[in-house]
Amino acid sequence: MKFIVDAMLGRLAKWLRLLGYDTIYDKTITDDELINIAKNEGRILLTRDEILFKKAIKQNINAKLINSTDFMRALKELDLHLDESIIGSRCILCNTILTTENSNIWKCPNCGKLYWQGKHWKDINKRIKFLKGDNYVDS
Ligand SMILES: [Zn+2]
Repeated sequence: MKFIVDAMLGRLAKWLRLLGYDTIYDKTITDDELINIAKNEGRILLTRDEILFKKAIKQNINAKLINSTDFMRALKELDLHLDESIIGSRCILCNTILTTENSNIWKCPNCGKLYWQGKHWKDINKRIKFLKGDNYVDS
């Protein structure tokens, strides 16, 4: 699954990338460009904008209207079939596939951001469990 996400859904875009999905997110893209890219690249268009959503559906684009303002709920509504092997494989800032620096560190060859599974992964793993269907317990 590949996605293109409208300007209002930045957090959702970052999470899709974290989960390993090829996700285009660019605040400067116009509605027509969103539709064209979705069409040309076979991407699922995610939007909060009902007018854009209807416009996309009219052109046979696979689009989903995101109603939830809670981005975890919104992700859950997408009913993703998570693939463990791709989680954490992509740069959340620029969508590039990461390269391995050493056993604990990954690097984005495009923007240079470094990734490691530090303390914050505990929270991320909890959220991933929630997306898989477990009850999410916020602690
Ligand atoms: Zn990057």
